[in-house]
Amino acid sequence: MAMTDLAPLRLFNSLTRQIEPFTPVHPGEARVYSCGPTVYNYQHIGNMRAYVFADTLGRTLRFKGYKLRHIINITDVGHLTSDADAGDDKMEKAAASLGKSAWDIAAFYTGEFKQDLRRLNIRDPHRWTVATEYIPQMIEAAKAIADKHCYELPSGLYFDVSTVADYGRLARAATEEGEGRIDEVEGKRHGADFAIWRRTPEGETRQMEWDSPWGRGAPGWHLECSVMSRAELGLPFDIHTGGIDHREIHHPNEIAQNQAIQGYDAHHGGLDCAQHSGARMWMHNNFLIDRGGKMSKSAGEFLRLQLLVDRGYHPLAYRLLCLQAHYRSELEFSWDNLGAALTRLKRMVMGVAALKERAANLALPAAPEGGWTAEALAASVGGKLAPFVARFDAAVSDDLNTAVALTVLDEVIALKKVDLVEKLAVIAAMDGVLGLDLLALSRTDLRLRPASATLGESDIEATLAERKAARAEKDFTRSDALRDTLLAAGVEVMDGDPLGWEWRLDNG
Ligand code: AMP
Ligand code: ZN
Repeated sequence: MAMTDLAPLRLFNSLTRQIEPFTPVHPGEARVYSCGPTVYNYQHIGNMRAYVFADTLGRTLRFKGYKLRHIINITDVGHLTSDADAGDDKMEKAAASLGKSAWDIAAFYTGEFKQDLRRLNIRDPHRWTVATEYIPQMIEAAKAIADKHCYELPSGLYFDVSTVADYGRLARAATEEGEGRIDEVEGKRHGADFAIWRRTPEGETRQMEWDSPWGRGAPGWHLECSVMSRAELGLPFDIHTGGIDHREIHHPNEIAQNQAIQGYDAHHGGLDCAQHSGARMWMHNNFLIDRGGKMSKSAGEFLRLQLLVDRGYHPLAYRLLCLQAHYRSELEFSWDNLGAALTRLKRMVMGVAALKERAANLALPAAPEGGWTAEALAASVGGKLAPFVARFDAAVSDDLNTAVALTVLDEVIALKKVDLVEKLAVIAAMDGVLGLDLLALSRTDLRLRPASATLGESDIEATLAERKAARAEKDFTRSDALRDTLLAAGVEVMDGDPLGWEWRLDNG
């Protein structure tokens, strides 16, 4: 049992634009807050990339031995259709156009979102923080900073960004013309000032509104995240995540509020001190892009996970597609890429299934409570497997290099002449980080299942049995005809393949 050298965990901090060692605020613990969805519509698969990333980060933190406390919020009020504090609340707008209450809409899309998370094997956070459940704390926080940092306009309470040091540092928005500039509302002192409380216009009522010292209205979206992260994790906590778009406005605004909430005004030095920003590290996933323009929620059929499922793809093929790229790289979606990821996943699952079959009579080691850590794994495997554990650990510890980690896992699955039980434990541990469910899936689960299929599986099996009988009788004309019938229904017969058939997809 050789003890493998393990790598320190290093992560890219958007605030410093550098890879830094992870040093927790509370020894042994990792506290993470992820900006969650605005539940006015379905999430598209680009949004889901943000949660695959946050989940992979959480799984890695656990693998590295940290006790994880992870929060994801649900934005059910306060997110406007425009970043410039203008336009409608996304929730109210959806409610009006669908003729439903904003509360019903929030409940419906929250449910759909959680279903997509489960399908992608994304673990539940310790707590879902729902914005409308924290309104009193938001009002308290706004009251506490109002005198020093805010001013009132007819439309609400605004945060004056000049009252904190280094506003916009995260976005590198050094000038008024920087990306953090949002303007629009008349009377703002600076272009980048933003609403922390929006007053309901005179004579109007909103479905979601509350009384406050600044009139009846609703909290600003940025305030929500500052208040919920502080309530659940304390400031400063370890890591704040979100998509790269949040690096420009939403997170700089959260940081400004966090500085104010913690009592660090413009005279308290800059953000070089990670303590002031509320989180030590700010991490952002890059975008999933689609040249077909189907990522837009305003397009009729947009790219939701359900669309992938309807086309027959197992959702975990999409998870694998995400993991094949580095989270900080742009990733292009195409049906071909998804198909290739599905094929790779099938190959992995078949490899693992063969090992499980061989190990059927052996007792597999139970994973330690809370799952394998790198340390426990390194201590329990030796010999030929040890260098693979070290390489896997080094890859994920190197700012979550999942692409390399996957290659190491592929190599482990293919490795010959190693102890089968140890090998399966290593695979289980690695899969615990990557979340592909390799030990539970079967190749049949991964068979393409297009929703539009005109034939059921039992019909296909019956036709195949008939074809087999025809071939046994050397009636090849009949056998070919049956094969063509299946092909016409989109089913390809794969002679010699243990599974016998697969759907042909035309994703045009
Ligand atoms: P939203 O519901 O718009 O607040 O977005 C939820 C999460 O998805 C946020 O973290 C966004 O930054 C992220 N996001 C939005 N679009 C994409 C995309 N195309 N690729 C990756 N992440 C995205
Ligand atoms: Zn947020």
